[in-house]
Amino acid sequence: MKKNFDTRETREGATRLTLPVPSFCDHSKEFGERGPGIKDGTVFYNPAMTMSRDISIAACRLLAETSKRPMRILDGLAASGARAVRIANECGCGIDVVANDISENAVRIIEENVRLNSLENVTITRRDLNALLVSDHFDYIDVDPFGSPALFVDNCFRAINRDGVLAITATDTAPLCGTYAKVCLRRYGARPMRNVGMHEHGIRILLGFIAREGAKHDRAIEPLFSYCSDHYFRTYVRVRKGRTAAANGLANIGYLEKREGAGYEAIKHPHELQGREYAGPLWLGELHEKEFVEGLLRIIPQMTLDKREKAIKLLEIARGEIGMPPFHYTTDEISSVAKTQPMPTGLLLERLREAGFAAARSHFSPKAFKTDADFDSLLRIFKKEGRV
Ligand code: SAH
Repeated sequence: MKKNFDTRETREGATRLTLPVPSFCDHSKEFGERGPGIKDGTVFYNPAMTMSRDISIAACRLLAETSKRPMRILDGLAASGARAVRIANECGCGIDVVANDISENAVRIIEENVRLNSLENVTITRRDLNALLVSDHFDYIDVDPFGSPALFVDNCFRAINRDGVLAITATDTAPLCGTYAKVCLRRYGARPMRNVGMHEHGIRILLGFIAREGAKHDRAIEPLFSYCSDHYFRTYVRVRKGRTAAANGLANIGYLEKREGAGYEAIKHPHELQGREYAGPLWLGELHEKEFVEGLLRIIPQMTLDKREKAIKLLEIARGEIGMPPFHYTTDEISSVAKTQPMPTGLLLERLREAGFAAARSHFSPKAFKTDADFDSLLRIFKKEGRV
């Protein structure tokens, strides 16, 4: 079938890709430096998502390494096929990939990309993702939409095999971070909170939503790696089967209350929140699993990935977040409450540890950190060190 738009060849990771020509234009003026990317009515491709694709390829490779059977992988919203074709090409053996997109033009480009890389382990389908999810089963399902994944999550739990992994992106950060609170409530059934910590609340609202959708199906989630980067949220979760697991999993759902000038509190019961500033229901459990993050850190340095260094830095910070409270602060935020000069994050972490607290950087921003110190101790350390 002939395409009704021009394409040009490029490369991402170790894979050759044909992409629609507008993708190569300078869109920075139109869309800003980091996205939302290129959406020209033909086929969507966003160069700002390269690291997201890099990490998913490493994730599939890691999962395939430990899988006892050949893995069935679905890229449910494949667009150009950049992700699906790269997974098929760069993960080694032991995987079969289904690349699905409802758009006819997308399917044509995926076909071309499969041919270009001489791949035999990709099946291309052109279906509504929800229809596909109720009629097939996979070990790994990637839902990477332009916008919210909310409409697909329920059916992902129908289609995922026992102990399978869901990889879900949300680019609707404005609702999740509280710019459009009503939209967040409608899509995710949760109230966001717009402040310095909003990106962490946002990804936890997304995870809380995924956990509740899974619980309907007697499925529990175990977050493997969840992060915020550029203009999107992304999470990898393992899905466990069982009523008890699902019920226990919901113990991780709660609320975050922000106290004026006095930090956060994680709260389990909504009746404690009346009249307070809060976000939730959201996921209060871990964002990452140590073994998975360390697995990625082991294999990524061996791979040809365009955003390898950026991914490694992100994963190293994520590893430090494990075991920490479900919120972070920034040094700027604390200095404004303490009325002192900002303190370098590295120095603050050192002082907190010297005082016997756990402390680590957080990936949500360069000045973000997590600690188990109570807010008063945090202020005391800050005031002692910071210049007024
Ligand atoms: N994951 C891609 C980007 C996807 S953009 C990447 O990494 O490059 C979103 C894609 O979803 C579009 O190509 C659109 O055609 C497709 N889409 C939207 N709704 C769909 C649906 N209900 N079923 C299947 N595909 C859909």
